[in-house]
Amino acid sequence: MRYFILSDIHSNVEALEACIQRAKEAGYEGVLCCGDLVGYGPNPVEAIDIMRTLNAVTIRGNHDRVAAGLDEAAQFNSHARRAVYWTRAVLPQPYREYLGSLPVGPLDIDEDAQLVHGAITDEDDYIFTEADANENFPLAKKHLTFFGHSHFPVVFSADGAGNSILATSYEFDEFVAVKCESGKKLFVNPGSVGQPRDGDPRASFAIWDQDRARIEFYRVEYDVTRTQQKMREAQLPAYLIERLAHGR
Ligand code: ZN
Repeated sequence: MRYFILSDIHSNVEALEACIQRAKEAGYEGVLCCGDLVGYGPNPVEAIDIMRTLNAVTIRGNHDRVAAGLDEAAQFNSHARRAVYWTRAVLPQPYREYLGSLPVGPLDIDEDAQLVHGAITDEDDYIFTEADANENFPLAKKHLTFFGHSHFPVVFSADGAGNSILATSYEFDEFVAVKCESGKKLFVNPGSVGQPRDGDPRASFAIWDQDRARIEFYRVEYDVTRTQQKMREAQLPAYLIERLAHGR
């Protein structure tokens, strides 16, 4: 089985469609999403429609929770807050209800894997560093934890005793692969589809190949200027429009 793994789509359908196209070429059978379908970007309705068409197993992110009306944006910075309230205002009620119905992580996928938005400690916590990962490793009941929220494609790895160790990775022409070695726990962030922040503006996703026991990381170009134009028309914050070009 090959799973298409995505996170932090943030209403960016140009990026989402480019990822789907590339994932189809690479081949997959199932779809898993670590949350934040909406927020920041200009096409929340369309992003939700596409994810539902894909039959993605999806948990909610912090932006989904606020856009659904389950929470307010008190913890958000001013740009994110403006965008999430714009999102809530343009989403028809059934779409807000759909977001509100998404499960909260950790969500078990099978005996090996689970999904969380930010971290196991809390859906709003970030895993940026090895120290953050080390707080979460003892809580992980699965070999594989897929997470998002930070918008950085990354892998943290620990041995059976919970000591962090380097994951084995290979670089191919089309993708970078990280080996899922037995006895190791892996925390895997596929990166952000709709708003990468690692300095590479290309959309990011991963494929988990169970038979080959590896995670493949992909980056794909998409029409950033088109997304930016739609954001301008929606009068979304200039800072959010600008950052898409830089992947920061
Ligand atoms: Zn996000």
